[in-house]
Amino acid sequence: MITEGRNISEVQSQLDPQALGQEMHALMAELYPICRSITGDGFRRTLERLRREIPLEVREVPSGTRVFDWTVPREWNIRDAYVKNSRGERLIDFQKHNLHVVSYSVPIHRKMPLGELKKHLHTLPDQPDLIPYRTSYYAENWGFCLSHRELLRMEEGEYEVEIDASLEDGHLTFGEYFVPGDTPEEILISCHACHPSLCNDNLSGVAVATYLAKHLAGAALRYSYRFLFIPGTIGSITWLSLNEERVSEIRHGLVLTCVGDRGGLTYKRSRRGDAEVDRAVQHVLEHSGERHEILAFSPYGYDERQYCSPAFNLAVGCLMRTPHGQFPEYHTSADNLDLVDPAKLADTVAKCLAIFSVLENNRAYLNRNPKCEPQLGRRGLYSAMGGGDVKQLELAMLWVLNLSDGSSKLLDIAERAGLGFDLIQRAADLLEQHDLLAEVPILSSSAEPEERVATWTKSKP
Ligand SMILES: [Zn+2]
Repeated sequence: MITEGRNISEVQSQLDPQALGQEMHALMAELYPICRSITGDGFRRTLERLRREIPLEVREVPSGTRVFDWTVPREWNIRDAYVKNSRGERLIDFQKHNLHVVSYSVPIHRKMPLGELKKHLHTLPDQPDLIPYRTSYYAENWGFCLSHRELLRMEEGEYEVEIDASLEDGHLTFGEYFVPGDTPEEILISCHACHPSLCNDNLSGVAVATYLAKHLAGAALRYSYRFLFIPGTIGSITWLSLNEERVSEIRHGLVLTCVGDRGGLTYKRSRRGDAEVDRAVQHVLEHSGERHEILAFSPYGYDERQYCSPAFNLAVGCLMRTPHGQFPEYHTSADNLDLVDPAKLADTVAKCLAIFSVLENNRAYLNRNPKCEPQLGRRGLYSAMGGGDVKQLELAMLWVLNLSDGSSKLLDIAERAGLGFDLIQRAADLLEQHDLLAEVPILSSSAEPEERVATWTKSKP
């Protein structure tokens, strides 16, 4: 990436959405066939592929490690699985689609009649052509998934069932990539990478996070950025448990999931509800002029549940397109490469960069000529405005001058003025160049979460 030394606005303006979308979609196509789960070689192979894009670090946490109220599970690996009829034909074949096996199935190899086998078969009678996605992480079980039509074709008789898998002590694997900025204060980007052949749910977030990391590496950044590629739920719990001392550096964060379908963007607020990231996302989506939805926080969904648990209460929201469960392809074989639109992937990257740009540039200023309005014309500011919407820029300058008493940041001003952040920022830059504005040194905006974690830790029995 040729992002060396450029700020986020410059990175944004250099994006070629069409090429970017195609590259991300091609990456997803390579990752799609891999049988991922919350542990195991499928997850490792996924990270190995991502390491060709970004130098992420691969972490391994042994099975049995206590992580808060949870325990890192045994590692699951699968080589083959099938159900054969009496003629030796593979009626259900893991080699054809990895959704055919319930994730975390224990090994089995024996013959049984259809009646007994049926207790372990999962279908979707309402979507009879699709294979469902099922898991059994925390209960020892085995099973197969198939289309309801395939099930209806199965005749009475003896079937040979084999799942050649292992469930043994090993590791939980996750990927972490840190892009340093001017301050150790961090923006966290988290995505789950634990689903097998499913695209919008898991791979779209993986692709967007990877390309965000690629574009931010080497750029001139105020914040540091931490990217996590983790198994859902147990991954964020494990990361938080291993990094409890470090979370106080996290100022803002986004969980990325289901970001490649053709729906508009949806943002679920952090538990705090009015954190800077919540306001930044809302601002960017509202000023995009595109269809979007803002949802209140709820303790159901993806890894934001862990980041927003009461002892952490991090300013982390969840960015999606169509939310999980609200598109019919969700957790089925129809969540495939066709469901994901390269243009939407690229648009998600662009929107994330716009959100980061607001966060990076959201600073407070002091009006250096606060006694009545300064004479803008005398300072050559009207000619400095150049092309574009001069009236709007003048209005933006008046708002910035009026509200820059040190208590308002640029996002506060943009919200109150009903103007776009970029315009307010341009006005502030111009006024600063003409000595009418001085930046207020950044106060630690979020001493609060640190204190909260500290108090919480102290109050533990
Ligand atoms: Zn899912």
